[in-house]
Amino acid sequence: AFEVLVIGGGPAGSAAAIYAARKGISTGIAAERFGGQVADTMGIENLISVPYTEGPKLVAAMEQHVNEYEVDIMNMQRAEKLIPAAQTGGLHEVKLANGGSLKARTVILSTGARWRQMGVPGEEEYRNKGVAYCPHCDGPLFKGKRVAVIGGGNSGVEAAIDLAGIVGHVTLIEFGEQMRADDVLQKKLRSLNNVKIITSGQTTEVVGKDGKVSGLNYTDRTTGEAHHVELEGVFVQIGLVPNTEWLKGDIELSQHGEIIVNDRNETSIPGVFAAGDATTVPYKQIVISMGEGSKAALSAFDFLIRNSAE
Ligand code: FAD
Repeated sequence: AFEVLVIGGGPAGSAAAIYAARKGISTGIAAERFGGQVADTMGIENLISVPYTEGPKLVAAMEQHVNEYEVDIMNMQRAEKLIPAAQTGGLHEVKLANGGSLKARTVILSTGARWRQMGVPGEEEYRNKGVAYCPHCDGPLFKGKRVAVIGGGNSGVEAAIDLAGIVGHVTLIEFGEQMRADDVLQKKLRSLNNVKIITSGQTTEVVGKDGKVSGLNYTDRTTGEAHHVELEGVFVQIGLVPNTEWLKGDIELSQHGEIIVNDRNETSIPGVFAAGDATTVPYKQIVISMGEGSKAALSAFDFLIRNSAE
């Protein structure tokens, strides 16, 4: 059995494994795909002290750093069920999709999240070539250009306000008859003169030219009319889904499916901690996930010294 078992190998899980292993305790990390969302990212410009890197390069660096320590990396292993310890300080069990199971005195859940996609033609093809999901990450790449934000919930409207300060023009497209964001955000958005708001709009296709996004087609759901908007970027903001389906019923989740953690990364189960995009911690970013993973490992260590087996 491990003293610390990390589930998930993104920035949160890598940081947790490194911090745990540096305490000299037996550490394992099981991940469906080591690297997580970073593996799907092009340029990264906001990892402090690293002015520019690329996803695959950062994944290789994370793996190399984890390998500096005695960490048992179990890649391509999907966790399917968490069976909490019968009593505090006992062994938790994690069942894997391959039929095996792992036991550990503490578990750190860092299974991350995935952006909900529109599922329209062109979206996948032009991902990272104009189709983006993270305004904090990719907004500056569209300086002075025209972009659309898909989604009029809080994250879409926040993204549109944020982008309006950087890009030339923002078209916000909301599927429903009205935006769902908080009034104060909607008011702020309407006060901006380089933003156009389209409601009852269903995006039907992302169009490209020369390997880059050149526009977007949408249907006006009230009239059925088809429209085309010329632009250089599309920010999809229709939801970030935490990879926590497998934990439902076993651990406390928020209404959005995020693992509820306190400021010490403790979950509703003693000895089970969580970190990163899978949790209720706001602002889903690499640097934040790394910090949260480190905190979770330190909390796990603290738990172990207080609940050590005789
Ligand atoms: P993830 O990176 O999501 O890692 C989750 C890990 O858990 C993966 O290893 C996954 O395979 C594994 N996993 C999931 N389910 C299971 C399971 N059941 N069993 C076992 N393993 C499982 N952030 C920035 O700071 N800067 C950027 O420039 C930036 N650009 C981005 C661009 C894109 C296209 C995307 C999608 C995200 C971007 N982000 C960026 C956000 C950033 O990638 C995330 O905030 C960060 O990766 C979250 O780290 P994490 O470790 O919590 O989760």
